[in-house]
Amino acid sequence: MTATPAATGPAAAPRPAAPAAAAFDPVKVRAEFPILRQEIRGKPLAFLDSAASSQKPRAVIDAVSRYYERDHANVHRGVHLLSERATAAYEGAREKVRRFIGAGDAAEVLFTRGTTEALNLVAQTFGRQRVRAGDEILLTTLEHHSNIVPWQMLAEERGARLVVVPVDDRGVLLLAELERLLGPRTRLLALTQVSNALGTVNPVKEICALAHRKGVPVVVDGAQGIPHLPVDVRDLGCDFYAFSGHKMYGPTGIGVLWGKREHLEAMPPWQGGGDMILSVTFEKTTYNALPHKFEAGTPPIAGAVGLGAAVDWLQGLDLAGALAHEHDLLRYGTELLSRVPGLRLVGTAPEKAGVISFLLGDVHPHDVGTVLDREGVAVRTGHHCAQPLMIRLGIPATVRASLGLYNLRSDLEALAAGLEKVRRMFA
Ligand code: PLP
Repeated sequence: MTATPAATGPAAAPRPAAPAAAAFDPVKVRAEFPILRQEIRGKPLAFLDSAASSQKPRAVIDAVSRYYERDHANVHRGVHLLSERATAAYEGAREKVRRFIGAGDAAEVLFTRGTTEALNLVAQTFGRQRVRAGDEILLTTLEHHSNIVPWQMLAEERGARLVVVPVDDRGVLLLAELERLLGPRTRLLALTQVSNALGTVNPVKEICALAHRKGVPVVVDGAQGIPHLPVDVRDLGCDFYAFSGHKMYGPTGIGVLWGKREHLEAMPPWQGGGDMILSVTFEKTTYNALPHKFEAGTPPIAGAVGLGAAVDWLQGLDLAGALAHEHDLLRYGTELLSRVPGLRLVGTAPEKAGVISFLLGDVHPHDVGTVLDREGVAVRTGHHCAQPLMIRLGIPATVRASLGLYNLRSDLEALAAGLEKVRRMFA
């Protein structure tokens, strides 16, 4: 962060420097999450399911309840003070998100219900405009269902086809294949920044440059990227970036689609209703300006307020220290689990974030998860909404431990101890 230069001149008092964020202290940060203080089945909770949804700090919970206690009314249309306050809070959250993701213009930040809705919006507007019979939509094997099915629906409607970039056995995207598959019929590339099932981090900036050299726009699923990586959409060079509030310490029911203004301006609206219009007659409707053109109906106001609070909370942390802590946990957890006899890590890309997926001998992942739950350890088991990836890896499911900033080494030690119990039970 650059300090603002103090004004010069005889009357100017020296300006105090902006307070630097205190060095990241995971124990202190964890204490800000009330839910993590409880015991589960008589054991301290080791919450290792943040990739599905993260927990919320007190600051976010309080911001949402303060909003409802003091400021709530519908936005944009009211002349009364509460509506003005609610509008200021909602639009203020948009500005916070804009800054957080390095966007140039708050009008490019659309609020949605989450990543899924954001990706559907792009498919049904931008996608519909571009994709014709015989065209190709390029995806990767690593995608979550929400970055597959909307494109599949579009492809079926248009007579287009999905083309899929393969991964190697570690879960690393084959970039040479990606480059080869970017062909003359490719109308767009949609890919995840971080795999939710394996934790693989894709080199999105490099991939955007590759795609753009061939004139192909890139839609990035940032659902698992934004909680674990610093994100600057302009530096990444993507055309669209989608994410969910609830995976980055914000509430459920709120997400973001960022898109380049030139695309958003050219796209037709998606849903029709109040707020997305300037005027309506039975003969003709004139649409509202960005971002409202894509926000039909009463928006998730409290969700946006909570997301804004999550952004504030994250920005109040020593973010470099926080990400280093998460990385240390990933390394520590990987080492611990590697020592468990019979355990096989699934997803061993050199660049990973936030996720350790594995199998334990031939014990079914659901059985592993159930035994772990009795030990207070919350993990996710199954295909993680990435069935095509599971098929590629030749497995039906994995056990997935996923990390948040509030995790401590002790959570991973509880996981390793729980796995010993599983081993003894199923030996
Ligand atoms: N994309 C990825 C990579 C995800 O991990 C998820 C959720 O797990 C989604 C998309 C969908 O997010 P949401 O359910 O919040 O819309």
